[in-house]
Amino acid sequence: MTHKPTSSLDAFANAKLKALEATNRRRELTSAARGPAMALTAGGRDMISFTDNDYLGLSTHPAVVAAAVEATQRYGAGSGASRLVTGNHPLYAELEAKIADFKGMEAAIVFGSGYLANSGIIPALVGKSDVILADELIHTSIHAGLKLSGATVRFFRHNDVAHAAEILDAERSRFDRALMVVDGVYSMDGDIAPLKALGELCASHDVWLMSDDAHGLGTIGAGRGAVAAMGAEGLVHLQMGTLSKAIGGYGGYLAASRVVIDLMKTRARSLVYTTGLPPGTVAAALKALELIEADAEMVARPVMLARRFTEALGLPAPETPIVPLVIGAEADAMAASAALAEAGYKVTAFRPPTVPEGTSRLRFCFSASHRDEDVTGLIAAVRALGLSALTKAAE
Ligand code: PMP
Repeated sequence: MTHKPTSSLDAFANAKLKALEATNRRRELTSAARGPAMALTAGGRDMISFTDNDYLGLSTHPAVVAAAVEATQRYGAGSGASRLVTGNHPLYAELEAKIADFKGMEAAIVFGSGYLANSGIIPALVGKSDVILADELIHTSIHAGLKLSGATVRFFRHNDVAHAAEILDAERSRFDRALMVVDGVYSMDGDIAPLKALGELCASHDVWLMSDDAHGLGTIGAGRGAVAAMGAEGLVHLQMGTLSKAIGGYGGYLAASRVVIDLMKTRARSLVYTTGLPPGTVAAALKALELIEADAEMVARPVMLARRFTEALGLPAPETPIVPLVIGAEADAMAASAALAEAGYKVTAFRPPTVPEGTSRLRFCFSASHRDEDVTGLIAAVRALGLSALTKAAE
């Protein structure tokens, strides 16, 4: 039996849903069961996923799964409290030391997720009298941090160092502290931020540089991410990222100087006032990082497969495992995605507000655990969509 208090709440929710339906923007959750080698059963259909961020297939790697099981049996299914209370089980320290080392920074701290990291780190560092410079295409979770900080925000054109310099020259002196925030790898475009040039710009204007490496860790820079890939070591103060993509599990992190990490333990509200991750999740991430360190061939495979795909289709060669195919109209992108599903490949169509208006796209993500024949089959299925029309739209 269900109970429902009388109020205008349902009427409000209904009106909102109707408005979303009218613009074809209502979203639904489809049950999706994942298996090894990017197998996916969704909407009653068995497919190979070319859409998720399990870039190394580690979410189903037997050693990672075993580490999660073992830690769960030893410490329990949940952490029981905030890390500042009793939720800081011993595996955290090991994982944080490993992340710091991997990122070449003094220290690291693990958050509940990448979203929580971004919404906690930024307000812990800047506020009303400060300015944040952000690339116009930063991830939504960074926007949450920007809003919560209360700082003045200035956006520069995507990857446009000269535009960022122009803004800094005109405005830096009006503000107390300044923070620049970029994605290391842009999730909808697959391109990499010019971190060296941005880092040098920041150094000359007393700006702290933060890079969100959600899609870089485990995939570029020999697995160490965008800072390593761009030769920007020593120029990026705050290396943030997630454990939910190439690491295959869940959680977020910040790698930085020891004193900044210490400050987060008191100032980052999304760390202090939320429950610690389950021990199994922390153990899985630790094991995944060990595998990444030990297996250069696995780390190189996603970009290699992405390049095999683009070369076969005459598309520009990517630097990352993310290949966007911009189609334009939402309905066309949705139809292309449906046709690929029909052929046995899950490739999500991304549309506004996730991407700018008029740039709806298919986004292909390649994983080390894709088999060669999966990529060959995908190439054939994309060709069958009518490639000339698509590549024209992508230009
Ligand atoms: N930053 C970027 C660039 C992302 O793509 C994502 C995930 N979509 C996040 C942050 C959020 O990370 P998480 O999924 O761990 O919350």
